[in-house]
Parts: sequence; structure tokens; C-alpha cells
Amino acid sequence: MMEALLASLLALALLAAWLLPKWRLRRALSRPLAPAQVALLARNVVQVRGMDPAQRARLQRLVQQFLHEKKFVGCAGLEVSDEMRVTIAGQACLLLLGRAGGDGPAQLYPLLHTILVYPGAFLVPRTEVDMSGVVTETRQDLLGESWGDGRVILSWDHVRRADQPEPPGHNVVLHEFAHQLDSESGNTNGAPYLGSRERYRSWSEVLSRDYANLRAEAMFGMHGVLDHYGASSPAEFFAVATESFFEQPHQLAARHPALYGEFLKYYRIDPRQWQPEPVAAAPEPDFSGVAYGQWR
Ligand SMILES: [Zn+2]
Repeated sequence: MMEALLASLLALALLAAWLLPKWRLRRALSRPLAPAQVALLARNVVQVRGMDPAQRARLQRLVQQFLHEKKFVGCAGLEVSDEMRVTIAGQACLLLLGRAGGDGPAQLYPLLHTILVYPGAFLVPRTEVDMSGVVTETRQDLLGESWGDGRVILSWDHVRRADQPEPPGHNVVLHEFAHQLDSESGNTNGAPYLGSRERYRSWSEVLSRDYANLRAEAMFGMHGVLDHYGASSPAEFFAVATESFFEQPHQLAARHPALYGEFLKYYRIDPRQWQPEPVAAAPEPDFSGVAYGQWR
């Protein structure tokens, strides 16, 4: 008798533990974003201005869920403001806008739990060991970093693009959250989860070719749409190309049509609809030799 009662209580406790987070999420989603938060999204996520009402509503819902599920931590004395939370959530959820269908809760960066925000570029010690066993310690300036253990680290200065010399087409939030999507497949290797073998074959063919071309461009100091930072590894290529897909979609589509096609299938949205087509075509590669030197 006592055992049956204990078993029932245990079953009830397990049911409550399973239902409670779902109930909390439903309750959070039932409360719309405050008008000030909606205004922040329109101000700090430029793509929102070109969206239709249905897309805006879906993005706001994703942002509500993001703010409910993810924890923000200020670092180096920074106090995380509502502007920081809404801006980072809004840009991160852009990557999921086409992929999250329906009105129910979406799978929203399931591996991620915490976003650490620094006021500016942060220094991280790096250790490299060469063939002869010599250990070199360096301290590298970082704008952002994505960890496989569920953390993303961002510099707020760079999120709000306070550093003016930064070239157009860059977005550190899109970059780090592309790494998160990439890591969901089990390997952060430039190929996120795509589903079918055919999709992987086509992805690998197109991205390998454009990655090799970018490496050649970087070697000869030629500049096209994609930042040379993407030539450092296939994972960085995917993150850099994702920045361009959302920030300079017309230029990317014109210069890398096959790559743009693969991203259309993956992100299931066409960011060209949010921006007027630029009057001038993307510039031809030049030999100015200017390099974008910070890490992310
Ligand atoms: Zn990166």
C-alpha cells in the first residue's frame, strides 16, 4: 500500500517536473513584448524594418522565448540592459525566423544556456605548442566567441557596431550564433544539420569550392563580398557567409549564386526581401591589401 502511494507520488513529481517548464514557457509566450522592446528590435535589428507583419510577429515570439530560456551575464563590470538582451536575442533569432514554423514553441538553440556580455573586445589567453614542444602564450582580442558547452560570449561595443571602421556586412551576433547552429550537428565544421545525404553532398560541393576561392582571394589580397576571416577554416567560412547572407544578401547572391541557393534552402528565408537592391553592383576584387584583423 505504502509502496503504491510512493510510486504514485514519484510519478506525479516526474510529471510536474516535465510539465512545469512547458507551462512556464507557454505563460511567457502569452505575454507579448513591451512596446519599448518592440521599438528596440526595430531600431537595432535593421532587417526588421523590411519585414511584413507576420514575419515581425514571428520574430517577436522567438525573442520572447529566447529571453525566457537564455540567461544573460554581464562581464567586466557590465550591467546587462534590456537593450542588450533584446538586441542580441533579436539578431540571434533572425537565423531561426525561416526555420521555426508554426505558432508553437520552437527549438531555439537547444545547446545554449548563457550569453556572456563584455563591454568591449575582450582578451583571452591562447596557448599554442609547436612541433618542438615550445609553448607560446598569446593574448588575443576577441569580439565574440561561441563555445560548444552552451555559452556565447559577445562584446557589446561590437554588437551595436560602435567601432566605425568595421566594414559593412559584419555582424558578430549572427557570426557566433551561426557557430551554435553548426555545433548542433555534433561537429563545428562548417556543415550544420542538413537532413539528407543529398543535401550534404550539394552543400559540401558548393561551400568547398567557394571556400577554396576565398582562400585564394585572401592569399592574393583580393577583396570580394566575403571577409577573409572566412578563409581560416570551413567553420569560419560558414559563419562569415551567414553574416553576408543576412547583411548583404543582394551582393552575396550576385557574386556567389550557388552558395546563396544553399543558404536559401538551409535558412528557409530570403533576406533580399528586407533590403532594396543596391544601385551599384558589388565592387570587383581589389588589391588594397586591407585585412580585417580581429578574431571572432
Ligand atoms: Zn568564428
